[in-house]
Amino acid sequence: MNIVTCIYLIALVLSVFNIVMLIESGIRLDIYTVLLMSAVVVANGGYLAIAVAGTLDAALVGISLIYLGGCYLPFFVFCIGANLTGIHPPRWLKLFMVGVSTFVIGCTFTIGRSPIYYKSVDIIDAGGYSVVVKEYGPFHHFYFAMLGIYIVAVAYICVLAIKRRNIVSYKTTILYSVFLFINVLIYAVDRILNINFELNAIGYLATELTILLIHKKVSLYDMTYNVMNIWEKMEEYAYIVFDSNKRYLGSNALARQYFENLKFQEIDRKLTVNLPEITDLLNRFDRMNAGDEIDEKAVYRDTLKLSGRVLRSEVKFLSRKRTLKFLGRAIYGYLIEFYDITKESEYIASIEEKNERLAAAEKRALEASNAKSDFLSSMSHEIRTPINTILGMNEMISRESQDMVILGYSRDVEKAGHMLLNLVNDILDFSKIEAGNYDLDEKEYSIQELANTSGAMLEKRASEKNLRIALDVDPGMPAGLIGDEGKIEQILVNLIANAVKYTNEGYIRVSVTGEYVGDGYDLEVTVSDTGIGIKPEDIEHIFDSFTRADIRKNRHIEGTGLGLAITKKLCVIMGGNIKVSSRYGEGSVFTVRIPQKIGDPTLVGSVKLSKKTQKTKRKRYEASFTAPSARILIVDDNEMNLEVFVSLLKDTQVRIDKALGGKEAIELSKANKYDVIFMDHMMPTPDGIETLKIIKSDSSNPNAETPEIALTANAVSGSMEMYLAAGFNGYLTKPVDPLELEETVKDNISPSLIESKKP
Ligand code: ADP
Repeated sequence: MNIVTCIYLIALVLSVFNIVMLIESGIRLDIYTVLLMSAVVVANGGYLAIAVAGTLDAALVGISLIYLGGCYLPFFVFCIGANLTGIHPPRWLKLFMVGVSTFVIGCTFTIGRSPIYYKSVDIIDAGGYSVVVKEYGPFHHFYFAMLGIYIVAVAYICVLAIKRRNIVSYKTTILYSVFLFINVLIYAVDRILNINFELNAIGYLATELTILLIHKKVSLYDMTYNVMNIWEKMEEYAYIVFDSNKRYLGSNALARQYFENLKFQEIDRKLTVNLPEITDLLNRFDRMNAGDEIDEKAVYRDTLKLSGRVLRSEVKFLSRKRTLKFLGRAIYGYLIEFYDITKESEYIASIEEKNERLAAAEKRALEASNAKSDFLSSMSHEIRTPINTILGMNEMISRESQDMVILGYSRDVEKAGHMLLNLVNDILDFSKIEAGNYDLDEKEYSIQELANTSGAMLEKRASEKNLRIALDVDPGMPAGLIGDEGKIEQILVNLIANAVKYTNEGYIRVSVTGEYVGDGYDLEVTVSDTGIGIKPEDIEHIFDSFTRADIRKNRHIEGTGLGLAITKKLCVIMGGNIKVSSRYGEGSVFTVRIPQKIGDPTLVGSVKLSKKTQKTKRKRYEASFTAPSARILIVDDNEMNLEVFVSLLKDTQVRIDKALGGKEAIELSKANKYDVIFMDHMMPTPDGIETLKIIKSDSSNPNAETPEIALTANAVSGSMEMYLAAGFNGYLTKPVDPLELEETVKDNISPSLIESKKP
């Protein structure tokens, strides 16, 4: 195949390919563009047909095809231009043009048959391909007339379009002129050179490409333009549009108000004015889409501070559906959108500020609350220390005095001292629960024993008022429950103590029962009394802290109004509840329900609290043992506490060394062998725990193995475990209970040292 045939073939293939491109590009298909594309295929088919024709008849078919495609082609170009620029030529003009083109085509059918269009026609071999040699007849002038009409018509459209001065028509016109120029040029070259090659085949292709380009641009402008028209009227949103090469296409009035430089930016050019915010947004959006696959729905959001305004910005792609849907959407530009959120952000900022203030207030409150509980716990420590002295010294007075009047005073001091101690305990408990500073220490316990001891603790007080405490434990309940025994005991003691306090005659009944619920057991304790009762209007307040009902009548009864508040909190933290019913003047019933786990499922037998009342009169004190050869060391930084300690153990005759701090204790422990060491915890360095560690870790110290008992004035829950873990062998709280102290000494010294023992 020779080169010329080859070029015709390629031109034909390309013109078919252009149709595919047209469909793929997603350009809105108008009928004239489709017809134009088809006309080019037909004409280029004609050129190829002539080149490969062996006979004149075959060449004539080619000539017909060329005219068929070529004569309508300018009409289609004219219509496309008119459509693009929005100019509507009159119908008669279009009909006239079609008429002229059809007439010319009609004339070409005479070729080879009559000399009116071509005087003569033949084919020759131009070296491997055929060429038509012809001589124009008179009718051929109609062809030039037709071309002239089209040139005028197209020029007319251009003038009108430029007059309209909109971006679309302006740009269209430029491209349109390019098209005219190319085709006229090609035609002229063809005529002048008179070569054996029809340049029109290439010219048509150039026409097609120009039209495709125009379409692509124009449809973009078109779309942008239409959209801009809508946006222009939008008052809340600002828009800026770029094409896919980041050439500025337009913006609405609000955008130009926000970014004044936009007014100076040329359309269809990359940004030349200074708009760093916009460039930055576009770059960030590009970076976001840097991956392999571009998501046409990608959105980049940001907020922008611009001369006192806060703008929410969004960058996204402009895309449209392709005609061949499976190819997805075609991205043709960028859209930047702004929305003024100054008010919202001020509002949010004010809320944030408020939140910050709240958080700061909360922090302060928390600090205050922590400070409060620190204060309360150190206060408890500080108060317990003098109470220890008061009660200890008072114990000595009661032991050593024979004078009944003084013994009476001493009993009052003891009572008041214990009241003060209870008060401190209550306040400490309350502050711990308030601060959420409590642990549930769950283990198995016997509810029967617990009820017994709680009742027994108050037996003395009850019998002083001639009250009876009756205890019923449901024999059908499990013998071992799992829960926080200490807290349940505190609840029971609080309730029984209140019943005793607010009952003047009759009895107090404590009944313990419950209900099997699933795997566990809901423990139910009821404390009822025949006391003064509570007025209905007071009932709802009695669980409030520091609230005491019927103050006038109860003034003589000591209390802080904390007991029930603590009791209720204890119930709640164990997942239970407390209820009360009362008849004023007749008595009250408090019912507590607390879910427990079952430890030992064997059933308890019925238990009655011993009715034996304790003697109201104090027994004379007598030491429970003597051990003159036992040696103990007591360590405390408070001299009076040391005094109390020594006095309390005086009658046991044990030899006591005193150390006024950790350092002295270490010295003494190195020099002497003790049978037991009592060590205060809260001391200036080294404190009790540090001193203990120093003594125990020094194997040369004769007291490395000596039992050590911690003494503390700070009764915080979990202390027992803490001291045992630190290496202490036992734990006593201050104020020290004289009997407990003697018991502890007796238990920790060798039995061989004990000389006499009280039976
Ligand atoms: P306190 O007993 O220290 O005043 P509580 O918190 O224990 O504080 O009790 C609050 C109030 O509830 C008491 O002041 C009293 O008026 C009333 N109250 C509590 N228990 C009883 C009871 N068993 N009988 C009558 N009133 C009671």
